[in-house]
Amino acid sequence: MDNDNKIQIQQILNIIKIASLAFPAIAFLQYYSKMPGFLLYITHGILTISILLIILAVYSLWIFLQSKIVNQAITSKLIDPLISMSISLASVLMTGSYQSNYKFLFVFVILFTSIECSQKISLTVAGLSSFIVLGVDLFYGPKGSVNSYFESDIVLTCVFMIVSWTVGYYDNIRKKHIQYLRDIANFDGLTELYNHRYFYEYLTAQTQQAAEKHIPVSLLFIDIDNFKYYNDLYGHQKGDDVLRSIALIMKATFPKDTFIARYGGEEFVVILKNHEEEQAIAEAEKLRRAVQEHPFDGQENLPGGNMTVSVGVSSFPGRVKTASELIKSADDACYRAKFLCKNRVEAYFSILDEFDFAPEVITQIKTLIAVINAKDKYTYRHVERVVFFCNLLADRLELDTNEKRKLVYSAYLHDIGKINIPEEILIKTDPLTPEEWNILKNHPQYAVDIIKNNEAMEEIKPIILQHHERYDGKGYPQGLKGDEIHYLARLLTVADAFDAMTSLRPYQAIKSYRQAIRELRRCSGTQFDPEAVDAFIPCIEERDGTQEWGNNVGILAQQGLNTKAYPNPEQPLNMENGTDS
Ligand code: GH3
Ligand code: MG
Ligand code: MG
Repeated sequence: MDNDNKIQIQQILNIIKIASLAFPAIAFLQYYSKMPGFLLYITHGILTISILLIILAVYSLWIFLQSKIVNQAITSKLIDPLISMSISLASVLMTGSYQSNYKFLFVFVILFTSIECSQKISLTVAGLSSFIVLGVDLFYGPKGSVNSYFESDIVLTCVFMIVSWTVGYYDNIRKKHIQYLRDIANFDGLTELYNHRYFYEYLTAQTQQAAEKHIPVSLLFIDIDNFKYYNDLYGHQKGDDVLRSIALIMKATFPKDTFIARYGGEEFVVILKNHEEEQAIAEAEKLRRAVQEHPFDGQENLPGGNMTVSVGVSSFPGRVKTASELIKSADDACYRAKFLCKNRVEAYFSILDEFDFAPEVITQIKTLIAVINAKDKYTYRHVERVVFFCNLLADRLELDTNEKRKLVYSAYLHDIGKINIPEEILIKTDPLTPEEWNILKNHPQYAVDIIKNNEAMEEIKPIILQHHERYDGKGYPQGLKGDEIHYLARLLTVADAFDAMTSLRPYQAIKSYRQAIRELRRCSGTQFDPEAVDAFIPCIEERDGTQEWGNNVGILAQQGLNTKAYPNPEQPLNMENGTDS
């Protein structure tokens, strides 16, 4: 809208400027037509017309080029009025100076200056034009008697001033109105930060510029921790105060030219131009600390006794290639920060980047994961968490690098077979029918089918295929028992089941970490390999003991809070049906 407006105004300006040249041309012709001698008239006439045409062409080109410059320097904006005033003065002098009928030509200059420049400049131009007109009257006009030209031109100069003031005033109103509309469209009313819509527009432009100029740009994705809890405790108005305070903290923490926007409810995004990932992490850490140290009202009743934020960092062009990948990766990193322990800064990394698969295979896997994410967000997040648990498990068991890689890769890919499972089954809230269970049980085989042509994945196929086998032989798809099951698959099964138990799913009660650990112990030797359970539990207990976990859902369930969202924390999971994963 703004651009259309500028183009239309530029067209009006061009017409006025050309007209301000066309009238002097008539004045010049008139001047030559009054000269004695026919030949002289013809020669001078042709010469003048040619010169005028050349000036007109050059001036039109100048106007055209000027209109292409969006933010002209004020000095270049003053060139037009000065040229135009000089031409008007020449026309007046050639057509009878104080008696000239062409003094009105100054109106054109005043008109386009009022539109193009500030009201101050246009009033100055109007004053200067008045000074010239009245000066000509006084200098060339009759002296010693009453100068009637001077008297009548005082009226003309009043017209100059009125035109300048009125048009300038109107243009100011127009500009303010446009600014107001722009503010409404681009700003968030509550925090006075930029809004979600403008963030997309700005980020797209920034990433394009960064790609062209080979400069980095980093994105921070910020989410307030336990904000729903705060709202529930103190009401939404208090919550709004927190949002405003955090917006102010951000403005004070980041460098002056930093772009800060409210992405959604209690989520913010920050674009750091010319910041590599390391620098962006340092900025994010500054913010995290500033929020932690700020004395928010009533924060002592929050889990951890403090209002905090979790921040995800991702940089362009680093591991991502587009603006939307940048947002998604920063969001993923923020999610990881939440999951790990909140009040934390996490940089984006993709386990896929560490895979030694061919680039086309990685692209293929990324596409599959993206499809799963679109179908069922739970599976996507679940995979991330299982990878995390498997990493812990591998470290505790001191697996060698190759074994650890196999375990982590299979954790990453174990659910890609769900791509072939109908969405209705994946997101169904009611218990699955036996037929639906049979369909879902195909997903380990589907996963293996998908990767069957990739030799690099040969070693992880059995692990993926067997991740729903049970230690007592009652699992699927092959009903393998005990040591017949690949030992890494037995580890994966435990991590997978633990995450399924402790995640919020529409159709099942959520378990706290402690409840899930009890369940693992209860099913050790039947569903799970006892050695795998024994290795896994300390990984969780060590971290849970430090209260570091981001699983506030588990904490709330333990405290008996939010029982509406999490129906009955004590209700045991139906492990016979297998956990969903
Ligand atoms: P987590 O620590 O995992 O981020 O949990 P959370 O409670 O912060 O996040 P969740 O996404 O569960 O809840 C976000 C809450 O933000 C829900 C809603 O009450 C609150 N919220 C969203 N927009 C506004 C707003 O404009 N004003 C206020 N006061 N609250 C808002
Ligand atoms: Mg949120
Ligand atoms: Mg939050």
